[in-house]
Amino acid sequence: EAQKETRGFQTEAKQLLHLMIHSLYSNREIFLRELVSNASDAADKLRFAAVKDDALYEGDADLQVRVSVDKDAKTITISDNGVGMTRDEVIENLGTIAKSGTAAFMEQLTGDDKKDAQLIGQFGVGFYSSFIVADKVVVTTRKAGQAADQGVRWECDGEAEFEIENIEKTSRGTSIELHIKSDADEFLDDWRLRSIIKKYSDHIAIPVVMQKQQAVGEDEETPAEPEDEVINTATAMWTRSRSEVSDDEYKEFYKHVSHDYEDPLTWSHNRVEGKLDYTSLLYIPARAPYDLYNRDGARGLKLYVQRTFIMDDAEQFLPLYLRFVKGVVDSNDLSLNVSREILQKDPNIDSMRTALTKRVLDMLTKLAKNEPEQYQLFWNQFGEVIKEGPAEDFANREKIAKLLRFATTHTDSDAKDQSLDEYIGRMQEGQDKIYYIAADNHNTAKNSPHLEVFRKKGIEVLLLSDRVDDWLMSHLMEFDGKSLTDIGKGELDLGGMDSEEEKKSQEEVAESMKPLVDRVQKVLGEKVAEVRITHRLTDSPACVVVPENEMGAQMRRLLEQAGQ
Ligand code: ADP
Ligand code: MG
Repeated sequence: EAQKETRGFQTEAKQLLHLMIHSLYSNREIFLRELVSNASDAADKLRFAAVKDDALYEGDADLQVRVSVDKDAKTITISDNGVGMTRDEVIENLGTIAKSGTAAFMEQLTGDDKKDAQLIGQFGVGFYSSFIVADKVVVTTRKAGQAADQGVRWECDGEAEFEIENIEKTSRGTSIELHIKSDADEFLDDWRLRSIIKKYSDHIAIPVVMQKQQAVGEDEETPAEPEDEVINTATAMWTRSRSEVSDDEYKEFYKHVSHDYEDPLTWSHNRVEGKLDYTSLLYIPARAPYDLYNRDGARGLKLYVQRTFIMDDAEQFLPLYLRFVKGVVDSNDLSLNVSREILQKDPNIDSMRTALTKRVLDMLTKLAKNEPEQYQLFWNQFGEVIKEGPAEDFANREKIAKLLRFATTHTDSDAKDQSLDEYIGRMQEGQDKIYYIAADNHNTAKNSPHLEVFRKKGIEVLLLSDRVDDWLMSHLMEFDGKSLTDIGKGELDLGGMDSEEEKKSQEEVAESMKPLVDRVQKVLGEKVAEVRITHRLTDSPACVVVPENEMGAQMRRLLEQAGQ
């Protein structure tokens, strides 16, 4: 196994590599952020493993990343003393794209570089960004706790193949040597690298060090031992106070924890003291991930205990309908040995979950109030997931209801941008219900014959066409004391909104039409439950109505599709 072997990349990896180099060309400096980010993750992983096995530190617990430049050789090297990788891990992590959604991703590619670059952002192809500036990359690594002869050397020139062999490596961790392309030699400049690190990696919790620049012309005979210099702030960002952290730092930290290339929409950073003691930093992404509806899609927060990384995707801290939230929770109460099983049983986690849920809902409420346009972007991406909320989180349904946005007959457009509060503000005198119609798509809803009488009377109706809408309405039931009423169901009672005169003429019509109703009932027989006179139509002669206590048409289709 120690011998040298040449292997081909997985096809998808090759395609991604190619795409990456081209679409990220205008933002080449991010390669450094990605590599430093990986080094920091590797340090986190080692710290976590060392909680159980202190020997993994091999006497060196000062975790750091080192960036060095060799102008003559035209190389930049990023080394860490983190957890390192075994030979198999190198092949797995650098030779394949082991992410489950790769196929789905490739299908979504449009050929439009700008759009595709955004897609790339959702895929943690971080390491490959090396090839934006390098035409050859050499990785040497040795896993913590393994013997020096278990080192691995991986080399790739960005084409179809990579070479891998076992080597002797005394120091633990990973070293990435980039052979810089001739058109990227601007990055061989020391000051340039420093400023990039400062810009993108200041929030990284471990020191990023470079060698101090030697002053020219000083004592030439005995050049002093070159000194190290720490470039970044090197404290876990969430432990700093809000006033000390700039928006840019918050945004960069988001990219580090979420593996997203885009800025977040908003965030909330809080320290909680008292019975429970923890810090949270929660972000709302600007764009829904491709696997938002995939049951196995990654979700949850990064969990730290007293600044030691414990796990990614800790899903116990937020309900499912807030699964798009990214961020960090750092607890001072939990044990370093905490596991997913323990998290599931710990009642303190329930209190944290309640509090964090409230934080997210408050953050969204604030966004909706202060930056309605930004909120609309959020709603367009994540609205359907929020609609799962009232069913999952009954206690917060009123708060969630205020966040909902719908298409309605008020605008008659398919934009889902009207809140229930706005609807209530426009209600007619005597109206005590919120009316809605649900259909498969917006046009069917908008052209439903059930709407005729409402349009005539100028009563607003919500136009629902999302798959989850029936589910949402059956759990929401009312808002601000007004029941949500499906106008496609049951007997229509416009209550106080029909004048005495209208009521009288309706009764007369009912009386005179009774023979007709009886005849229709006879003809249709068992096919219908009941035939009755309606006042809900003004143009169409007849329509089919679902009884009040039965499932809506949409819900029925949903269950049929699910094979019920
Ligand atoms: P991501 O960071 O989103 O997982 P990357 O492409 O940046 O994706 O890295 C791929 C994988 O390679 C990482 O998940 C990690 O397992 C491994 N890796 C990359 N860099 C290092 C490193 N410096 N030390 C240890 N493992 C690393
Ligand atoms: Mg990465």
